[in-house]
Amino acid sequence: MEHFYAQSEQRLGRIFRHGPEDFVMISAQPQCDVAWLESLDDAAVRRLDETETLSLLETRQYRWECGCSQERMLAVLGPMMRRDPAGLFGEEEVLRISCPRCGARHVVTREALEAYVSAA
Ligand SMILES: [Zn+2]
Repeated sequence: MEHFYAQSEQRLGRIFRHGPEDFVMISAQPQCDVAWLESLDDAAVRRLDETETLSLLETRQYRWECGCSQERMLAVLGPMMRRDPAGLFGEEEVLRISCPRCGARHVVTREALEAYVSAA
């Protein structure tokens, strides 16, 4: 990632991992003390708010769209529906599932799944 950033932005960027989904990225801005940035280690970054005056340059929203769709959810559930519809739906008329890749929520009705299975 640091290598990619150096190539695409033409300046130094450092990435620190503080947890499974917690990353800190520090990128060089004009007049950056590059030696200081290069010298940062994980411990120094954890104390950065105590040793430096910090402010946000920008905030960015990231969204992972994996391409999942209602159709794809029907295709995943279809075999289970053929094998064991009662086990799949129980007393419910609706299944609420989250895409395992992106977390998008999908609602699949028994009616839709029955139609999918009989058409396939
Ligand atoms: Zn998805």
